[in-house]
Amino acid sequence: MSAPVVIIGTGLAGYNLAKEFRKLDAETPLLLITADDGRSYSKPMLSTGFGKDKDADGLSMAEPGAMADQLKNTEVRTHTRVSGIDPGHKRLWLGEEAVEYRDLVLAWGAETVRVPIAGDGADAVFPLNDLEDYARFRTAAAGKRRVLILGAGLIGCEFANDLTAGGYEVEIVAPCEQVMPTLLPAAAASAVQAGLESLGVRLHLGPVLNRLERNGETLDAHLSDGTVVPCDLVLSAVGLRPRIDLASAAGLQVNRGVVVDRELRTSHANIYALGDCAEVDGLNLLYVMPLMGCARALAQTLAGKPTAVSYGVMPVMVKTPVCPLVVAPPPLGKHGQWTTEGQGGDIRALCHGTEGELLGYALTGTYVAEKMALNKQLPALLP
Ligand SMILES: Cc1cc2nc3c(=O)[nH]c(=O)nc-3n(C[C@H](O)[C@H](O)[C@H](O)COP(=O)(O)OP(=O)(O)OC[C@H]3O[C@@H](n4cnc5c(N)ncnc54)[C@H](O)[C@@H]3O)c2cc1C
Repeated sequence: MSAPVVIIGTGLAGYNLAKEFRKLDAETPLLLITADDGRSYSKPMLSTGFGKDKDADGLSMAEPGAMADQLKNTEVRTHTRVSGIDPGHKRLWLGEEAVEYRDLVLAWGAETVRVPIAGDGADAVFPLNDLEDYARFRTAAAGKRRVLILGAGLIGCEFANDLTAGGYEVEIVAPCEQVMPTLLPAAAASAVQAGLESLGVRLHLGPVLNRLERNGETLDAHLSDGTVVPCDLVLSAVGLRPRIDLASAAGLQVNRGVVVDRELRTSHANIYALGDCAEVDGLNLLYVMPLMGCARALAQTLAGKPTAVSYGVMPVMVKTPVCPLVVAPPPLGKHGQWTTEGQGGDIRALCHGTEGELLGYALTGTYVAEKMALNKQLPALLP
């Protein structure tokens, strides 16, 4: 039997690539390998689960067996971690076991950044970047009331909104001056912050969590500014780091992510990457829209028709319903001038370049309705 196309990872990148490939090639065997339980789910839904009262089973869309049946001529190996890649012999390692591939696709995502936390409560800190993390956090949160979130980025703010909708009291601690500092200009950040505060969320912007100590049934979070925040558990949303270690060890070029060209090829023949782990022509975008475009293009390439990916305009809808928000950050390396209009929860912030061209925007509240019109004026991210 000929060697399969092997995809490492069954997140949105891995499964969507497999589906797109099957539309073009019904014959070539597919092998999907995943370190997790292989259930298909939509990761963006994780930060809506408490408000909708859905546990991990409720957010799961299909078991791995059902995915394999649907994809046909496909095996999904779950709870199986790839431990090494041997590009010279077109094989990879699962511990002692060698698996040969025709083509190999890295869709192994990004891992959560973990900050070291002192104190005897450190085991009550939960990172959350996949369905299994969500299941663990939900189990730990059952019957509890107060959640401290580490990080005021997109994920931290979404969970703050969602956990309050699920009946929790939420505080956020983050060493920055505003929420979503890498995404939003100050006025839009203030609108989101005010929205979260209107739900009762308390923000500690500036300090970090120094120590987490058990105090009977609860925890005391000692912040670096001397504040002590009583809480029942801690959700860590301090950031993600693309997985590059195995690729680097195999001699593939890596930078922030696994470096690939517009055809999603790594520096080694027959090895490709997409999704959170991939740096496509210099862009490492940890969102769904880019990976969907990559899945369609790479499916064509794997089916024998080399195809370059292009990215159009990619605005991000942030799931903070208390303050509707859509943001299209300026393209990498382009620096413009932000101007802001509006007040309170309704902010229109536009970023213009030196020629007066629109480079990006952040819209909150009623201004979100302008997104379609503005998208038409924005430059494509990878034309
Ligand atoms: C809470 C949350 C909300 C989000 N909301 C949005 C949103 O609203 N809009 C948006 O565009 N984006 C959103 N994102 C980002 C988006 O969901 C991700 O960009 C996307 O899901 C990444 O998919 P992926 O397949 O690349 O990685 P992952 O889903 O992380 O999948 C990685 C896979 O690789 C496997 N794996 C890793 N290492 C190994 C190994 N060594 N061996 C075998 N298998 C391995 C894992 O088990 C897993 O199956 C959100 C992210 C989070 C966390």
